[in-house]
Amino acid sequence: MRPVVVFDLDGTLVDSLEEILASFRFVLTGAGLPVPDDARLRSWIGLPLAETFARLAPPEAVAELTAAYRRHYLARLGHRTRPYPGVPERLAELRAAGFGLAVATTKRSGPAKTLLERVGLLGFFDHVQGTDEGMPAKPDPEVVRRAVAGAGGAGVAMVGDTVHDVAAARAAGLAAYAVTWGAGRAEALAAAGADRVAPDLEALPDWLAAVAGRFIV
Ligand SMILES: [Mg+2]
Repeated sequence: MRPVVVFDLDGTLVDSLEEILASFRFVLTGAGLPVPDDARLRSWIGLPLAETFARLAPPEAVAELTAAYRRHYLARLGHRTRPYPGVPERLAELRAAGFGLAVATTKRSGPAKTLLERVGLLGFFDHVQGTDEGMPAKPDPEVVRRAVAGAGGAGVAMVGDTVHDVAAARAAGLAAYAVTWGAGRAEALAAAGADRVAPDLEALPDWLAAVAGRFIV
């Protein structure tokens, strides 16, 4: 069976941090709520929006804040977001090596595909799995399992930038490669159980060859 590698999107494949932080600042300021510093906001990236806003606003305001964020963010989707250096090259390399590639993101599937298309990465992936209405978000492994199933093959590893990605990978039975160019911090990612913590994706192909060795005969 073809080995499948699952990637998180924001903070892993694309540098969307400033676009995301700007949307949070815009929505919170517009609602007259205090804006936490960037370090706190960063630590919540990757959680469902409603969970983040529940930490910042009274419960009755969460639904409107979440909707306002989606409106603001989706209207600008991808305008300030770019793939991290070397990402297209690494993805091309993995495809050439015979890996199936999938995305598992906390974004909905539609916006995730739109963003990947706008930054020129969509064509690398066999399947893009968002956390759609009613699905549990990472660290629940559901979105990762669906990503593997959609790509068709045997899941071997997940690449992500947050402890939620690492936990979801673990729960789905995949090895975890964590990058530190996104929202997560090296110590936390290692503590969460990442098999490899690296500043970027440079070491990914060699690491995957070792991890997937037992799947490729
Ligand atoms: Mg991420």
